[in-house]
Amino acid sequence: MSSVLPASFSDLGMPSALMRAVADLGFETPSAIQAQAIPALLDGRDIVGVAQTGTGKTAAFGLPLLAAVDPSLGAVQAVVLTPTRELAMQVADAIQSFAAHLPGLTVVPVYGGSPFLPQQRALQRGAQVVVGTPGRVIDHLERRTLVMDQVRFLVLDEADEMLRMGFAEDVDKVLSRAPQQRQVALFSATMPAQIRRVAEKHLRDPLEITVARQSSTVTSVRQTYAVVPFRHKVGALSRVLAVSDADAAIVFVRTRGAAEEVGSALVEKGISAAYISGDVAQGEREKIVDRLRSGALDVLVATDVAARGLDVDRIGLVVNFDVPREPETYVHRIGRTGRAGREGEALSFVTPSEQSRLRQIERTTRVNLEQITIPTPADVSAHRVQAMLGRAQERAAAGRLDLYRESIAVYLAQNPETDPVDLLAVLTALAVGDEGPGVKDDMDEELDRARLAPARHETGERGERGERRRASTHIAGGPARWRVAVGHRDGVQPGALVGALTGEGGLTGKDLGKIDIFGSFSLVDIPGGLSPEAMDRLSRTRVAGRPLRIRIDSGPRNDGPRHDSGPRHEGGRSSYGASRPAHGPTRGRS
Ligand code: AMP
Repeated sequence: MSSVLPASFSDLGMPSALMRAVADLGFETPSAIQAQAIPALLDGRDIVGVAQTGTGKTAAFGLPLLAAVDPSLGAVQAVVLTPTRELAMQVADAIQSFAAHLPGLTVVPVYGGSPFLPQQRALQRGAQVVVGTPGRVIDHLERRTLVMDQVRFLVLDEADEMLRMGFAEDVDKVLSRAPQQRQVALFSATMPAQIRRVAEKHLRDPLEITVARQSSTVTSVRQTYAVVPFRHKVGALSRVLAVSDADAAIVFVRTRGAAEEVGSALVEKGISAAYISGDVAQGEREKIVDRLRSGALDVLVATDVAARGLDVDRIGLVVNFDVPREPETYVHRIGRTGRAGREGEALSFVTPSEQSRLRQIERTTRVNLEQITIPTPADVSAHRVQAMLGRAQERAAAGRLDLYRESIAVYLAQNPETDPVDLLAVLTALAVGDEGPGVKDDMDEELDRARLAPARHETGERGERGERRRASTHIAGGPARWRVAVGHRDGVQPGALVGALTGEGGLTGKDLGKIDIFGSFSLVDIPGGLSPEAMDRLSRTRVAGRPLRIRIDSGPRNDGPRHDSGPRHEGGRSSYGASRPAHGPTRGRS
């Protein structure tokens, strides 16, 4: 391989129709993966590209794929497999845009969870390129609505995701059914042994291209972390969002329950947020992502599964609410920002005991994460004032201020001792809507301690669980609000919870306060606290067939500014859309 990479698209040997499309799209110089993959693929070679989203990999395979296809032949000649329906649609759109100057060329996306017939009709009308999820592609092959006899170009996009999602057999089947005379391009963010085996079995002497994460010309993500004790994560998150300049943010959480809990907590604080998880229906998920794309929504809380393939240029901030267990997941998560040549930031919250996991991510990604300090209430207030002052000139220019001027003049005349600057400060505080930055509170003190303390190493029990266990030793008479892992979804009624807590937990009805039942969890007030023994017994107790897994509630009731605006407000309207009422709590007792 030559050590000097082609600096312009005209050096890559592409047909003129594709050169024009690239110019129309405003691509000036090829990205690293494009500079290496395009000439090799145009040459007829197979390739293995180790590259993540945001590196320009779609054009790296999409352009040579089109060069290999004959638009005048009404048969499928190229098939791209993607892990998700969202990615299938995006890739199909991208390839169609690269084909702008190839009249008659049709790209058809096919994916599960959507009626078969319209896809079948689209294929019957004639398509040269099919982009689809493996399962649905197999369905079409089996019903002979898709024929691969003329296929000469195959792409596996995000191959590691496809295997992780259980598509290994389907991918193998599609590759085995394609004609022997074909080219294959395999793209993957990571290269586990399973992917190597796929490459060995189905690719011929592939050229391996790795683009270093940092040297990518398209991606620019500042990677930071903050040490945040588990119970302050929601408070810290709302402050981070309140001072962020990002247009939109994604908050990654590990579980469905956490998605619901964190999403609800942000909405409660007035932030324009919603959540998606495997529990939210596909159609609803798409609507939420569309709102994020259009700017109707600013913060999306998501599990890894639900956010796969998500491609929204507005995302300037990714928050890892939990540190991912695998460095690969981290890489996928941060790929959601810094897209389309924009700047992005990825902030990871680590609890004091999770810092070794962070080191593992640093080793794998070969990037040192920079430690940041969580904004204080004063930072939040200062940010709001700056945002308001930033709009002052524009507002002044718009006029219609006479009424306000007169009111102020009257006020000053009636209160001659008032200093006009003091009055301005008061009005600003009222407009900003907070109490003014107070002294540091408990949360700030704990955050400072956590930030400055030397890294604690995980021993035996890992991460959060270790932390929870420490918390459980000083519970008696302590935290009043507890969280149990059963909710509406499990058909739980308040009576069943009271029964379990008073039976197994050895409490009496008087020990219990308010019970709120949510979709996948419930919150219970136990003002007198729980002994470690009671907690132990209760964590193993089952209600509606599911373990209670009781623990201190560390979520929505955290402190942090009450009137936080996220990156932008949605006029106080709940952003839960249609799903909100179903997720609202049922009050059990009060
Ligand atoms: P991808 O990694 O294929 O998802 O591409 C990420 C983003 O970069 C997309 O919005 C592309 O349109 C854009 N892009 C791809 N190649 C280039 C290029 N050579 N110059 C500028 N933008 C590009």
